[in-house]
Amino acid sequence: MKIFREPSKLQKWCRSRKANGCKIALVPTMGYLHEGHLSLIAEAKRRKADEIVVSVFVNPVQFGPNEDYAKYPRDERADLAKCRAAGATAVFFPTPENMYLDRHSVYVVEEDLSKGLCGARRPGHFRGVCTVVAKLFNLVQPDFAVFGQKDYQQAQVIKRMERDLNFGIDIVVAPIVREPSGLARSSRNTYLSPAEREAALVLSRSLMELKASAADSPRSAKQALSKVAAAIEKAGLKVDYVECVDAKTLENAKSVGPGTCVLVAAYDGKTRLIDNVLV
Ligand code: AMP
Repeated sequence: MKIFREPSKLQKWCRSRKANGCKIALVPTMGYLHEGHLSLIAEAKRRKADEIVVSVFVNPVQFGPNEDYAKYPRDERADLAKCRAAGATAVFFPTPENMYLDRHSVYVVEEDLSKGLCGARRPGHFRGVCTVVAKLFNLVQPDFAVFGQKDYQQAQVIKRMERDLNFGIDIVVAPIVREPSGLARSSRNTYLSPAEREAALVLSRSLMELKASAADSPRSAKQALSKVAAAIEKAGLKVDYVECVDAKTLENAKSVGPGTCVLVAAYDGKTRLIDNVLV
């Protein structure tokens, strides 16, 4: 497995692999890898990529000033071992300094799908995400890139960026990997105390219940969402948002039914957790 730290070296290697006819997959991550990330590598393998490039970069530009950039968990050695075991063929570990050179001044802004949900609560977040992903697309020039449904809005924003900027890269979205308890796997779960982890189960539980009841007959979004919000608050979390949107346009839906996505963000103590379900 190759290890790159310099963007230019990664780019040169990817170009030569492509010239040799290789199919290249990109799996962008912020590291502290877990089963969710590994499922993306497995998906790249399943799609018969010859080279699977995993990037591990805690991107400062996508964090707000009061967010957890400094304390975001990092473990390079463990990430390398996990990438190797999962079948990655290259890992890219850049530094903020070599990704954002002195006086970096070009950013990518998606202006439709980024407006609501996490985009409304985390100003500048998707600008940071689009910018770093566009840079990774240019460095690796993959045939396809794999993202997780865990970050549903992010996946839709990236698909739109790919389309509107003509990257010519297939965007694959892989399902959410959960712990046996139902909790969506996340690097941020490491912040949770045992009691907070227990309380966090309300997110997946209430989403699954809503999906099951909506599958029988579409339900009024307003009523169903306030039930979810009440359950989350009762478990001791603080709701950031609970919304039901059209799965493609991310516009608010009137009823929870086929073709919609229900998304939640909530604070469990100091930790902001997100989860979603496609109905
Ligand atoms: P992150 O390291 O949190 O930025 O995530 C990197 C990629 O892994 C993103 O495309 C996420 O959506 C995806 N991912 C994170 N957690 C999960 C999960 N539990 N299941 C599936 N994909 C995930």
